[in-house]
Amino acid sequence: MKTPLPEFLVRGAERIPSPCCGTSMKVMGTRDRKSKDSSGETKVYNIRRLGCVNCGRIHHELPDFLVPYKRYEAECIEKVLTDSLHHDVAADDSTLFRWLNWFTSFVDYWLGCLRSIMLRTSQGKNPVNLSSEGSLSALQRIGRLVGNAPRWLTRIVRPIVNDNLWLHTRSAFLSEGN
Ligand SMILES: [Zn+2]
Repeated sequence: MKTPLPEFLVRGAERIPSPCCGTSMKVMGTRDRKSKDSSGETKVYNIRRLGCVNCGRIHHELPDFLVPYKRYEAECIEKVLTDSLHHDVAADDSTLFRWLNWFTSFVDYWLGCLRSIMLRTSQGKNPVNLSSEGSLSALQRIGRLVGNAPRWLTRIVRPIVNDNLWLHTRSAFLSEGN
């Protein structure tokens, strides 16, 4: 099958400090990244490879509509996680199942990351009362931190990636000894 040419060039306007060292990054080249939309159609995005000027580690620019290592757009995954029975995402059952599993496995880790980021960046002036969280669903706990409005998944992913705390599913499972 012929690989389609990139339809979109992703070029972030803001300068993000390197997730590893917090220093600046320089452009090292580009890479094509495929992603599916809710109809299941594949689009190709050209994203930049950025190198940390301090340690040389490579980071890939992450547009808001993508989730690292996921083959569907963030919006699709968010729809399924928000309401797994009523959505219009054209993905097979095993993919949907994997997303739900992924979410369940990682949500506590993500919430922990977000809390520590918020505390450190002094957005934690009114810390969320954790003692009353026992009866809340994962989505409700997320809503308390980043709100339930659309794009909540992006609001989780973006700060965690920028802080270099995002985990690949596989490495997370490896670290648990599976
Ligand atoms: Zn670095």
